[in-house]
Amino acid sequence: MKLVWFRNDLRVADNPALFRACDDAAGQGVLAVAAICPAQWASHDESPARVEFWLANLRSLQQQLTALGIPLKILHVDTFADLPGQLLSLARRFHCDGLYLNREYCLNENLRDKQVVARCREAGIPVYGLHGDLILAPGKVMNGQGLPFRVFTPFSKTWRKIFTEQYPVPLPVPPVQPPVPDASLAPDVIPDNVVYAISNGSRWLPSLWPVGTESAHARLTDFVANRVGSYAADRDSPSMAGTSGLSPYLSCGVISPRQCLAAMSVASEGTNWLNNQWVTEIIWREFYRHLMMHFPDMNRWEPFRPEVESRIRWLNDDRLFVAWCRGETGYPIVDAGMKQLLATGWMHNRLRMITASFLTKLLRQDWRKGARFFMNHLIDGDFASNLGGWQWSASVGADAAPYFRIFSPMRQAERFDPKGDYVAHWLPELRELKGMQRHDPAFAAEVGRPSPIIDYGKARAASLADYQRQ
Ligand code: FAD
Repeated sequence: MKLVWFRNDLRVADNPALFRACDDAAGQGVLAVAAICPAQWASHDESPARVEFWLANLRSLQQQLTALGIPLKILHVDTFADLPGQLLSLARRFHCDGLYLNREYCLNENLRDKQVVARCREAGIPVYGLHGDLILAPGKVMNGQGLPFRVFTPFSKTWRKIFTEQYPVPLPVPPVQPPVPDASLAPDVIPDNVVYAISNGSRWLPSLWPVGTESAHARLTDFVANRVGSYAADRDSPSMAGTSGLSPYLSCGVISPRQCLAAMSVASEGTNWLNNQWVTEIIWREFYRHLMMHFPDMNRWEPFRPEVESRIRWLNDDRLFVAWCRGETGYPIVDAGMKQLLATGWMHNRLRMITASFLTKLLRQDWRKGARFFMNHLIDGDFASNLGGWQWSASVGADAAPYFRIFSPMRQAERFDPKGDYVAHWLPELRELKGMQRHDPAFAAEVGRPSPIIDYGKARAASLADYQRQ
């Protein structure tokens, strides 16, 4: 038999590892496995929302696999360290002569896979690592000297060039496999939830993020048919549904980025769709994953630009941090973003930038604290994209915002929520105010919002002085 190990690739279509295993099995049977690793998830700051969503999608995957004649077994381990031994005993127990997986690009996952490969090799079981999480794998998009790109725009140009040449298309669902007679191969039960260390993060809301491939594809189809054309104009308006809302599905691999672009190309009927801004965002996702592979220190929470971070003196003030976490800074646009995160496990991209800039540049709190808080709450929490977004906001990342770009909450509000619809939705006490008054900390305080915890002008000047230090 062939063994397929599912991680964040919870789908049967466009799944290179599954497809290849079924092909190689040539009718001899395919077994699937997934691992529940609560201590590892906690050490990666995974939110309860993401864990619940992942488990629900794993159950949905199990049904689809069963229909394909592939039983899904579950391993219960604490950390990645337990996996090589457990996977090997499973492979031996069911006489598997090949392990198939889609590669993951962050350091711990890479080390885990290397250890699994080593143990399987010793036992004479070959491991096949394929690429299903990215459209173009790390190493494929390099500069003229064969080195990794450090800046996004040339990366995206080369990425688009290679995509046009190779035009990768999604793989189909593999054919139904012959039934396996062994009764011990019945699918294992997947728990509704697992108890683990992070209990105070956001919870999964199934009404916002319905489970399964069909829900993800319905969302994708609607987006490419009706909204992608106005994406460039609408994506920065947080009160509109201007973005796809696909990030939780992409993060668990319920849908693949290749499927996203294929749907876009079909819906766009030959127009110049590859240059659409939405494709650019998918390329950002790829860029951050490539960086994690090429610059492994980033995985250890090192800044991409240590020379910038060495100038900054982060303030160790828990009062400021806690106010930010609770959405009680007194700046409505910041607080509304945090309330959206706490209530739903998701935050609009513009708000992620505003709240991250506020925490790092104005409250001068270490970006790592904010990044971990985001991970504890996001349903789409993704180490590479989150780290990339936070380093960008703190100006210490690859191709980051310049240090003097400090978002003014009022100016951001004026540009992206001029009627105050977004803030009034998340902070209902503001509804009795009108338009830009809703964003004004002084007006907001009059209707019961907290007073501002910092003076914007003074905080900005102090931050600039820090970033400019020699
Ligand atoms: P759309 O606008 O529809 O974009 C489509 C897809 O492209 C997204 O689902 C996502 O997979 C990818 N994408 C979009 N923008 C970015 C980006 N800037 N960087 C990388 N990929 C992108 N995204 C995550 O998936 N997980 C995170 O943990 C995460 N943390 C972030 C933290 C900060 C501080 C910032 C500034 C951004 C972060 N992002 C993260 C990126 C972005 O905010 C989300 O991907 C986006 O808001 C998801 O909504 P959507 O699916 O509607 O996106």
